[in-house]
Amino acid sequence: MLVDSHCHLDFPDFATEREAIVARARSAGVETMLTIGTRLDEFATVRAIAEAHNEIWCSVGVHPHEAKDYAALAPQQLVALAAHPKVVGIGETGLDFHYDLSPRDIQERLFRTHIAASRETGLPLIIHAREADGEVAGILDEERPPPGVMHCFSSGRALAEAALELGFYISVSGLVTFRNAEELRAIVRDVPLDRLLVETDAPYLAPVPYRGKRNEPAYVAATAAAVAELKGIELQHLAATTSANFFRLFGKASAPVR
Ligand SMILES: [Zn+2]
Ligand SMILES: [Zn+2]
Repeated sequence: MLVDSHCHLDFPDFATEREAIVARARSAGVETMLTIGTRLDEFATVRAIAEAHNEIWCSVGVHPHEAKDYAALAPQQLVALAAHPKVVGIGETGLDFHYDLSPRDIQERLFRTHIAASRETGLPLIIHAREADGEVAGILDEERPPPGVMHCFSSGRALAEAALELGFYISVSGLVTFRNAEELRAIVRDVPLDRLLVETDAPYLAPVPYRGKRNEPAYVAATAAAVAELKGIELQHLAATTSANFFRLFGKASAPVR
């Protein structure tokens, strides 16, 4: 069994064939998916997808790209939405200084708002960090949130180590299969097996051999195979371990009954 710990099933890319995508995931052994909130005005759609499928859970949050539209967000808004039984995490949140689609001070304020909501609910943070290693590490060090996940990890070794030190998990996306990702592979090799997750970040970042195509949860199997090879273990072992890690971190989600 595999878990896709981060995907965006509400995105319009999937609108016409969501059920087919869930079925293909199931056939590929992907028995659990976490679909991620990025805007509060889309949250009802995200939640409805989770409500309609036993194996899909969701998170609530505002992506750093969207922060500019939610400058006045209060922790209580997230806390209230997170009370729903299918909401198992807070995010995605964090800092993206690559695209800079929202002003940096607003991104940072919202990051801290999500941290406050994580602390209050006890639900793990889902952190997006891009070209902001020092800033993300600094805020985590200052705020000391409960353990969460660094999603689609593509940062440097220092941030990986700082996150692991705080009890965080590292989620590996299809990036790890890309030819030029030697530095990322070196970091993943050193992440303890009991702190690893795998994800697609679908519809983005399809792993080799699907690179360039629209990504979907079934393809997390290709990423898992690449990570298993890096770790020198059987795919089945990697799949079982990352699934157990997921349910340990996202304790509000329950594993499918078989
Ligand atoms: Zn992200
Ligand atoms: Zn995402």
